[in-house]
Amino acid sequence: MESSNKNRKKITIAVDGFSSCGKSTFAREIAARLGYIFIDTGAMYRAVTLYALEHGAIRNGILDADKLIAMLGDIHIAFRFNPERGASDIYVNGERVEGKIRTIEVSNCVSAVSSIAEVRRKLVAMQQEMGRSKGIVMDGRDIGTVVFPDAELKIFMTADPAVRAQRRYDELRAKGQEVSLQEIEENIRNRDIADQNRAISPLRKADDAVVLDNSHMTVQDQMEWIAEKLRPLIG
Ligand code: C5P
Repeated sequence: MESSNKNRKKITIAVDGFSSCGKSTFAREIAARLGYIFIDTGAMYRAVTLYALEHGAIRNGILDADKLIAMLGDIHIAFRFNPERGASDIYVNGERVEGKIRTIEVSNCVSAVSSIAEVRRKLVAMQQEMGRSKGIVMDGRDIGTVVFPDAELKIFMTADPAVRAQRRYDELRAKGQEVSLQEIEENIRNRDIADQNRAISPLRKADDAVVLDNSHMTVQDQMEWIAEKLRPLIG
């Protein structure tokens, strides 16, 4: 998959699916192998949520949607490539917030923030702009359905909820965060429900997406799987 990327046709790859399925790991790895841009759109919704938490639009877990909508013009999101991670870090108003957006507090509030139409409008416009020249792998919930309905390759990822919770638990514990497996299972369950049932751009498989259940697959297995799908598209 790595060789002679320069002469290949550039396409758009949309990766959607449930929380904690390993979408970002999968998408980042594909982008690295193809020399494509990788964008984690969940990070953008998390960044807006962090801003809302830090500026009083979420208090005691309750979101004041009007207050957040009024603040949207003040929230400037940018990605900058970090060679150490081999991926882009997210910045809000010039501050790198990569670590701060991955807490359980942000995870517990993000689905409420992402259900606001004005928030989605702002972030979808940014995402479409970032993908204008193709050569992009973007992961999220509505990439194949709303952001890039014409993407040449759409993947819908899923995995056993118990496997997903364990993966997220291991990831957060490795970063030194004090969380229980039960708390994570509950967060994943709640976000699955909220993301699938919101009125605007709910999480659903695009009709032309291919399903990848990675419950029992390594990243290498997933790269072999995607290589098969890419061959007829990019040669
Ligand atoms: O992918 P991640 O779990 O970091 O996404 C966090 C949350 O952001 C999701 O639970 C969902 O509510 C929201 N999201 C979204 N649309 C996207 C990406 C994420 O609504 N394209």
